[in-house]
Amino acid sequence: MRVELVTAVLCGVLGLLIGSFLNVVVWRVPRRESVVAPPSACPHCGHRVRARDNVPVLSWLVLRGRCRDCGGPIAVRYPLVEGGTAVAFAAVAWVTGPSWTLPALLYLAAASIALGLIDLDVHRLPDAIVLPSYPVSLALLALAAADPGGEPSWGAFGRAVLGGALLLLAYLALVLVYPAGMGLGDVKLAGLLGVYLGWFGWSTLVVGWFAAFLLGGLFAVALVVRGAAGRRTQIPFGPWMLLGAWLALLVGEPVGAWYLGLLG
Ligand SMILES: [Zn+2]
Repeated sequence: MRVELVTAVLCGVLGLLIGSFLNVVVWRVPRRESVVAPPSACPHCGHRVRARDNVPVLSWLVLRGRCRDCGGPIAVRYPLVEGGTAVAFAAVAWVTGPSWTLPALLYLAAASIALGLIDLDVHRLPDAIVLPSYPVSLALLALAAADPGGEPSWGAFGRAVLGGALLLLAYLALVLVYPAGMGLGDVKLAGLLGVYLGWFGWSTLVVGWFAAFLLGGLFAVALVVRGAAGRRTQIPFGPWMLLGAWLALLVGEPVGAWYLGLLG
């Protein structure tokens, strides 16, 4: 069997487990609760969730979305997050292949899902996730740069550090000029995404930065056109920054090359 396929399947299974943990993170971190203790309980009757009812996706299907004790509904979002994380992990592994860059990208995928959902829920990007993600990501990218058994690529690592600083400063300038548009949470996320975009190249960085504003802008225009939003409606920008960055990570190089080709 092809090693790429094996890696993708293994990462998909890992994604199921991480997705289950992300459900806990998305619920508890905005409420400033520990993600370790106490163990998960039914929000309706308070009964602790049994191990056999805590199997990602499958348990929800077996229980048909109801608590075993009180019959209260379990939101369909839980299995969706678990399944979605599995698909995201498998896709990232499939595109990247077995490499030292993979751990860093899987970490970014998990953080992206947690941050995107929390921003949609409560319009915040918690420091408790964003700030530790800097040292974790830099350490994982340093591992990728060292590339044990391969060719070290410290140039890419330097570009990652510079890219992070660049996007952080660019968003900070935007917030200072127009404070109503974005918050400091967006600035801190921008620096983190800049690290990953910079790792892959300058054109990836530009595409990711541009795609966030393009996607967020189109969405805002669509809302206004449908009459669902006015000029003052607050639209979280974090999910668009995350989507834009991932778009750039996956297709940034060809798009960047095409654009530079247009310029001559
Ligand atoms: Zn219950």
